[in-house]
Amino acid sequence: MLGPVRRWATIASIAILLVSCAKGVGDTVTECVVNADQTRLFKGHWTARPIPLAVVVNDFSSSEISALQSAIDTWNSHFESAKGFELYMAGSSTLAQVGNGGTRLTSASACSQTVIGPNGFTNKIMIYKNATTWTYGSAVIALTSICPVATSNSTYRMYTSAVMEVNFVDYFRSGKPVPDLESVIVHELGHMLGLDHSCNGSACTNAPDEYKEAVMYPALGFNGMNGVQKRSLNTNDQGRANCLY
Ligand SMILES: [Zn+2]
Repeated sequence: MLGPVRRWATIASIAILLVSCAKGVGDTVTECVVNADQTRLFKGHWTARPIPLAVVVNDFSSSEISALQSAIDTWNSHFESAKGFELYMAGSSTLAQVGNGGTRLTSASACSQTVIGPNGFTNKIMIYKNATTWTYGSAVIALTSICPVATSNSTYRMYTSAVMEVNFVDYFRSGKPVPDLESVIVHELGHMLGLDHSCNGSACTNAPDEYKEAVMYPALGFNGMNGVQKRSLNTNDQGRANCLY
């Protein structure tokens, strides 16, 4: 059964500049903090750690891999201080593809396999660079598809599989908008961990600044063709993430 789909739409037509706040040492939130209007903005979580992420050999360039790793490090540095666990990039791998006949997983097929068992992870979670085909709409920069246990409605229902796809068809190429890849991945990793957006739909219209400044805000600002950087977790992201682990 296909789990909820997470999308990050752009607001490319609005040339706003969102300044990424430098996070001070004393700003790390180590407890579960969730505002009353955000209590439903969780989708599930992983029951084992660390969470193994992998990419296909030669899919991403070395500089893109560096951006992915920096995004992973952002979450790790938070959880290492707050919760003592980490994601890790397990290196190039095609393991997760084998179970699907060698074909790349998509949002539609993400839940056709399980990457976790009673004793921990049995396979890696793939991050794909989709450079030739993108079927989720040009407004979507990246898509993380997650697969919670279907029989559970709990906030903390267990994830069994997931896949992250990044749109290199409509973005990141000559003549197309160029989002900040690290910012995109930090956001998608929030979904991978189990967070929904900091607000959804009409609730975002008059959302407080802490929701808009969160990496989990559903839109990404652009300054002309270039995406603004939003690479640091704010206290809203941190407090909510702590509730999942
Ligand atoms: Zn999103």
